[in-house]
Amino acid sequence: MHLGDLTVYHDGRFVRYDDAKVGLLTHGLQYGTGCFEGVRGFWNAREEELYLLQLSDHYDRLAQSARILMMNLPLSTRELCDVTVEICARNKFRSDVYVRPFSYKANEDIGVRLHDVKDAFAMVAIPFERYFDAQRGLKVGVSSWRRIDDTMAPARGKITGTYVNSALAKSDAILSGFDEAIMLSQEGHVCEGSAENVFLVRGGVLYTPDPSQNILEGVTRRAIMTLAKEELGLQVVERAIDRSELVIADEIFITGSAAGVQWIESVDHRPVGDGTRGPIATALIDLYDRAVRGSLPKYESWLTRTYAGRVAAAS
Ligand code: PMP
Repeated sequence: MHLGDLTVYHDGRFVRYDDAKVGLLTHGLQYGTGCFEGVRGFWNAREEELYLLQLSDHYDRLAQSARILMMNLPLSTRELCDVTVEICARNKFRSDVYVRPFSYKANEDIGVRLHDVKDAFAMVAIPFERYFDAQRGLKVGVSSWRRIDDTMAPARGKITGTYVNSALAKSDAILSGFDEAIMLSQEGHVCEGSAENVFLVRGGVLYTPDPSQNILEGVTRRAIMTLAKEELGLQVVERAIDRSELVIADEIFITGSAAGVQWIESVDHRPVGDGTRGPIATALIDLYDRAVRGSLPKYESWLTRTYAGRVAAAS
């Protein structure tokens, strides 16, 4: 499918991607004053259904990011969920998808600020397979770039401009021969990847940085904590994590809407555990995959159907 022919949502209308334009001086482009989400949809071939994952969690977070940027979203969480279903249905997707809703400051003038600038909203959805190669573990390196601190720019908002931080760390990691970066906080605690939260297993307990560690409070992070507790009976501890714990952990994996659950093979050239995929990561990867494709009835509330839902709404 050609990108230009996709149906997108822009300024309240469904239009072709090629017909949705922004001006060169747009504030969101010049100053990074925008916020966005990354939502996944998973194709279930047997049911011929596209399951959209945790829509309301994403739109609640988008509303929080918008609030931080003094923006008003034009639609409620409920309405945004409906637009997401509509976009996917209009594009007749029959594959996994990635949906990118975003709001941005739309004035075309000079002068960085948040107030007295009009807002605009758009949503694009594209077919999307894997962010990382699922077959192998990732080699990660601790980045010399520290994660933004909440005193500098809001870390728990998903804010366009702050992704310079992620881009610096990611490119530095890739160009140094790693697959992904792990950033530390200003205090030197383990924070997260360029677009993923981090989990460690030590002695059968699952650890992840708590929300005071300048992390993005990930939707996948929350889902994995739930699956770990409910399905595997694991103790899940949210606390500050030190760099050396990465080296001695039995298992490490990262989570994100784009990345899914991805196990880490080595950190700073040292194998994690015995360098193979550990049992807890293996179990969680499998549980997550089944939950997101509609095979775990207990987690049906995480999913919104694209096609069946639309038929039901129309009848
Ligand atoms: N941290 C950052 C910086 C991210 O960009 C993402 C991706 N949204 C995550 C963590 C993971 O969040 P989620 O599970 O909500 O996608």
